[in-house]
Amino acid sequence: MTREQAQARIAELRRLVEYHNYRYYVLDQPEISDEEYDALFRELQQLEAQFPEFITPDSPTQRVGAPPLSAFPEHAHRETMLSLDNAFSEEELLAFDQRVKRFLDLPQEADIEYTCELKIDGLAVSLTYEEGVLTVGATRGDGVRGEEVTPNIRTVRQIPLRLRSEDSLFDAPPRLIEVRGEVYLSYQEFERINHERAQAGEPLFANPRNAAAGSLRQLDSRITARRRLRFWAYGVGYCEGIEFATQWDILQQLKRWGFPVNPHTRLVKTIHEAIEFCRAWSRRRAELDYATDGVVIKVNRIAWQRQLGATARAPRWAIAYKYPAAQAITTLLEVRWQVGRTGVLTPVAIMEPVQVGGVTVARATLHNIDYIREKDIRLGDRVVIQRAGEVIPEVVSVLTDARDGDEIPIEPPTQCPACGARVERAEDEAALRCINLACPAQIVERIRHFTSRNAMNIEGVGDKWVQRLFDLGYIKDPADLYSLPQHRDALVQLERSGEKLVSNLLNAIEKSKQNPLERLIFALGIRHVGEHAARLLAEHFGSLDALMNAREEQIMQIHGIGPETAREVVEFFARPENRAVIEKLRRAGVRMEAERKERKATPFAGMTFVFTGELQSYTREQAEALVRELGGRATSSVSKATTYVVAGPGAGSKLQKALELGIPVLDEAQFLAMVRAAQGE
Ligand SMILES: [Zn+2]
Repeated sequence: MTREQAQARIAELRRLVEYHNYRYYVLDQPEISDEEYDALFRELQQLEAQFPEFITPDSPTQRVGAPPLSAFPEHAHRETMLSLDNAFSEEELLAFDQRVKRFLDLPQEADIEYTCELKIDGLAVSLTYEEGVLTVGATRGDGVRGEEVTPNIRTVRQIPLRLRSEDSLFDAPPRLIEVRGEVYLSYQEFERINHERAQAGEPLFANPRNAAAGSLRQLDSRITARRRLRFWAYGVGYCEGIEFATQWDILQQLKRWGFPVNPHTRLVKTIHEAIEFCRAWSRRRAELDYATDGVVIKVNRIAWQRQLGATARAPRWAIAYKYPAAQAITTLLEVRWQVGRTGVLTPVAIMEPVQVGGVTVARATLHNIDYIREKDIRLGDRVVIQRAGEVIPEVVSVLTDARDGDEIPIEPPTQCPACGARVERAEDEAALRCINLACPAQIVERIRHFTSRNAMNIEGVGDKWVQRLFDLGYIKDPADLYSLPQHRDALVQLERSGEKLVSNLLNAIEKSKQNPLERLIFALGIRHVGEHAARLLAEHFGSLDALMNAREEQIMQIHGIGPETAREVVEFFARPENRAVIEKLRRAGVRMEAERKERKATPFAGMTFVFTGELQSYTREQAEALVRELGGRATSSVSKATTYVVAGPGAGSKLQKALELGIPVLDEAQFLAMVRAAQGE
């Protein structure tokens, strides 16, 4: 086969494979058998292997994943991905409709067209297509910046790598468009993944949403490719070269471009019809094979959407109706008292497994002993459990009528289930606490907290690994993580371990040494010091040493830090065992200083200076450089745009001009005072 023939055949095969992909994954109407499809795919793979110069990012062969990345690059969204305001009742939906009309200056009896879309419990993503080709896939992140996960996005079969345009007149791809939608997993695929993880001894995902997020944020996109992620497109962000009149039009166009659009989406004429839709789907959602947690209602007309605009948080033209929380009934079998990192004992209900909102639940929180007494919850009781979104399932009530007399009251433990130490209860607290600081359960929890994502973010040390390394005696406190490299060979030999796993782990540990100070402060696990307080402390004190030596009054002065937190901080650093851990961290090379912020002081921003005559302390060039350093401009001629003229002895026509135009004139001493004030800021 010649090069030209190969190129033509590759193009032909790509078109065919993508076409059948679309028939299969989006339309669910395959035209050929799996074997025929595989044959086409293999032929394409072989030709591309022979002629690698013809491989392009939009080739279907790229859907199988790429070699692993070390981190995801950041992606700034061209248009912010706002979150939505929530409505929890029909009244709130009516109020939303009224707000929209008031804002648009429409009479209250007017009717507004809305689209009703099922709210999928997945992960929002933004897909950038340039000249019709997928170039960037990014997670929502904080709405302004997300993570670029393009290789992973390519593995999602329902996402077109190139926009379809069968009708070139209507479907010609725009120059640039950001398509928004939700990546999600079916319940079935979620169960399959968890089953696999259980067999591999890995922690299970709590729900399909977490599993979808975990799969999409895999650094190794070959793993993502094996998780059958799915996609619904629901909107458009930044866009060049095409205008839409309505949200409904957008959805129709997305379909023509080859995106799956949820078939249950409806266009309704009034808010009352929208409410009907919400009512119907809060009952019918159990029919779906994927998780939904509500309905998104959008003003259909784009011109009105523009007029309505957005608040800082959310658009005014859309609202998310949230279904009431899902509940189920099951039997309480056992109560386990779990020891947290501060020694607090939390009662966990172990129950007969039951489906709640599409997820199997076997454990739920009972909060604390007061809660148990107040609700009179007993072992053997039939209990109602509730699960709402991301919240941990909880036992909300007892069916006392179902009792047969064999139920046993729950007694709080007098000893810690992990170490046997005495359990205490502070007077002002509902919590029971193990008072033994050396309690192994507490230590393991503290190390877990230290490694967790929002703390030192040491990926690769899962909860099970922390327990194992602790049990084997490798880590007795968080600082011991940094001496793990000395045990490299032994770690590789462990069961279910290996060269790759250990080197990933050690790399992550090494990398964590450079974390910002605020992460370290949060990771230490000081009571009452959450992420926010940690950031305030890092900003204020600038180094761990300064914080360690701070007095309570100094800490309390920080706006946003209360007296209780200040006391906990001082008590924490007063303990010799905590100081010892910090010294070990220091010796390991963990960063303990805040990042020296490149504080670009620009107090002279927007000001223009003209120098005339002689200066004593500086040459004119030096003075001009000083102005520029402080963010101002220095020019040589005086005009109405000049902010100040600095005049020394021998000033001539420039001074004259300044006086004519009424521009303020400074002498050298006044100018230097301004500079000092500006630098002092
Ligand atoms: Zn204990």
